[in-house]
Amino acid sequence: MKKKAGKDRRKAMEKVLVVGAGFMGSGIAQVSAQAGYQVHLMDIQVAITDRALRDIRWSVEKLAAKGLLKEPSQKVLARISPEKDLSSTSKADWVIEAALEVEELKRGIFQELDRISRPETPLATNTSSIPITRLAENTKRPERVLGLHFFGPVPLMRLVEVIKGEKTSPEIFERGVAFVQSLGKTPVRVQRDIPCFVMNRIFSAAFREAVDLVDQGIVSPEDVDVGMRLGYGWNAGPFEIADNAGLDTYVRIAKTMRALGVDHLVSSSNLIERMVIEGRLGRKVGKGFYRYSPEGKRLPWENK
Ligand code: NAD
Repeated sequence: MKKKAGKDRRKAMEKVLVVGAGFMGSGIAQVSAQAGYQVHLMDIQVAITDRALRDIRWSVEKLAAKGLLKEPSQKVLARISPEKDLSSTSKADWVIEAALEVEELKRGIFQELDRISRPETPLATNTSSIPITRLAENTKRPERVLGLHFFGPVPLMRLVEVIKGEKTSPEIFERGVAFVQSLGKTPVRVQRDIPCFVMNRIFSAAFREAVDLVDQGIVSPEDVDVGMRLGYGWNAGPFEIADNAGLDTYVRIAKTMRALGVDHLVSSSNLIERMVIEGRLGRKVGKGFYRYSPEGKRLPWENK
């Protein structure tokens, strides 16, 4: 009991900076605040952090209404401060980068984070595909850079891959594992830095085939999702997962995969690129492989 109180006090003093307040960054900020950390949530525009705070409030209040929060929602929300630049990096004990999946952008962010943060602060990235070592190269502390690959929606998904870059020290790797556990998540250790890590590779292999079969008119996305739920016990089908993740994010990840020579995991059809051009980006805009009611209910695409 005493040990837990001590841990809770330590967390209340530790500051987590989350860079990028989109789908993933807002979720990471939320679970960090729920776990008791002080959170700084940064994005390039105030309108984006404002929207993230509204989404977090909605999610935290929903959890509270279901009796799933240990404390009043106001207490959790009060731990999150919106930021419009990276200056709070200098106070952070943990930094988690969750900006757009664009390598050049992330390289620049890592340079800046390295310049401003305290030398001992671990710098983590939530990238889905870019090797950690390539981002760590932009810092003078590659031994303190690691991957913390959360799964979305972060408040609901319990898995986080902890990824060791070529130079990540064993101590920082284990601190990453402990940090993930302190958020109530389950870590999976990825011991070698390969593009797309482990879970995305396995998912992508199945998704590539599913996209090809749909694009050839052999099966509908809905039937693939039902099939994977009933036939293989998946909790959600691949097209439901892709819609939640964002099809524009998928296109960026596919681009990285091709650039890094893992194109065998990318569909040969351009179905998703065509959908993105039509504005079908997934759940966040109300249309993707499915369409979504204003309340967020998933509906078949065909019965428009
Ligand atoms: P998103 O588009 O919802 O959010 C990205 C955010 O980054 C945007 O709000 C954007 O304004 C912000 N941004 C852009 N430039 C920035 C900068 N210089 N500084 C700070 N913020 C900046 O994308 P997302 O789905 O949240 O993905 C974020 C990261 O998480 C990506 O690396 C992605 O590959 C990874 N990821 C995504 C998923 C998923 O399911 N979507 C799952 C695991 C990991």
